[in-house]
Amino acid sequence: MSSKVRVRFAPSPTGPLHIGGVRTALYNYLFAKKHGGDFVLRIEDTDQNRYVEGAEDYIVESLNWCGIPFDEGPGKEKGFGPYRQSERKDKYQKYAEKLIESGNAYYAFDTSEELDAHRKDHEAEGKTFIYNWHNREKLKNSLNMSQDELNEKLESGDDYVIRFKSPKDEILKLKDIIRGEIEIDTNILDDKVLFKSDGMPTYHLANIVDDHLMEITHVIRGEEWLPSLALHFMLYRAFGWQAPEFAHLPLIMKPQGKGKLSKRDGDKMGFPVFPLEWKDPKSGEISAGYREDGYFPEAVVNMLAFLGWNPGTEQEFFSLEELTKVFELERVHKGGAKFDPEKTKWFQQHY
Ligand code: GLU
Repeated sequence: MSSKVRVRFAPSPTGPLHIGGVRTALYNYLFAKKHGGDFVLRIEDTDQNRYVEGAEDYIVESLNWCGIPFDEGPGKEKGFGPYRQSERKDKYQKYAEKLIESGNAYYAFDTSEELDAHRKDHEAEGKTFIYNWHNREKLKNSLNMSQDELNEKLESGDDYVIRFKSPKDEILKLKDIIRGEIEIDTNILDDKVLFKSDGMPTYHLANIVDDHLMEITHVIRGEEWLPSLALHFMLYRAFGWQAPEFAHLPLIMKPQGKGKLSKRDGDKMGFPVFPLEWKDPKSGEISAGYREDGYFPEAVVNMLAFLGWNPGTEQEFFSLEELTKVFELERVHKGGAKFDPEKTKWFQQHY
């Protein structure tokens, strides 16, 4: 690898960090340390509606308890910070405007009621409404306006968003370290919103801009983000930036194997799905945590390391230091990783 490896864990503070998130942080950390690189913590808090009080502290405390230190992040500011997106707001609008100038994005003035009506009309005809070249011409956006009309609209104070203009008839060839090559037909992609009417970027824009500015070389994240890969790839291309390498980690599945492991499964099994106990600030409801249940962080870290990866040897227990030596992204499984509540107990007893 030529440039210094830099990876990031980029949680949104929307609630307590699920063990799936801790595993993502762990794999990022292991990969960074294996390659002598940096591990950055970035708080993605641009969605004000989903912000939960106390969640950021919970994330930091969880990583500390697990012994997964970050090199840069809130409280450890380096040259690339601030590391909270809400404190970087000014940067994103400028980049959204750059995409408009280069013809890769446009202003859209459709209200949510109007868009709902279009969806209904399409459904009535047995079709799916996609906001892209299929329908763009009929909709209220700057691609259908003269400069004067647009200026008037922008000055009117009406709400608008900025959308990415996805190309027609192209097969994108994407690459993922774990999944290999993926082909996506751009005709099925919506022109996603990059900048919202509340003056905030969406996850997609802020995430790509920050990964670029923070010189991230590898994006290691949960599989739920795989559907966004095509857009992210197109955004890098539109900016003329080199994209990082991507690795999407398998989902953590319920013990029965069907569906994603959720908080409710933990309640049912009487087993934590969170590293630390969490008291919901609104309902006051308490969810169990491994720390308060008396588990060693080493047992939890080993359980998580083996959830979707194996070293290919007989060794069953590793210190964090040993893990940094043997960990390889190429050995991460493609399929979902089945959560086994007994596994942590086993590691706890054998520690
Ligand atoms: N903020 C996103 C999350 O909470 C980050 C996804 C990514 O790593 O790109 O999962």
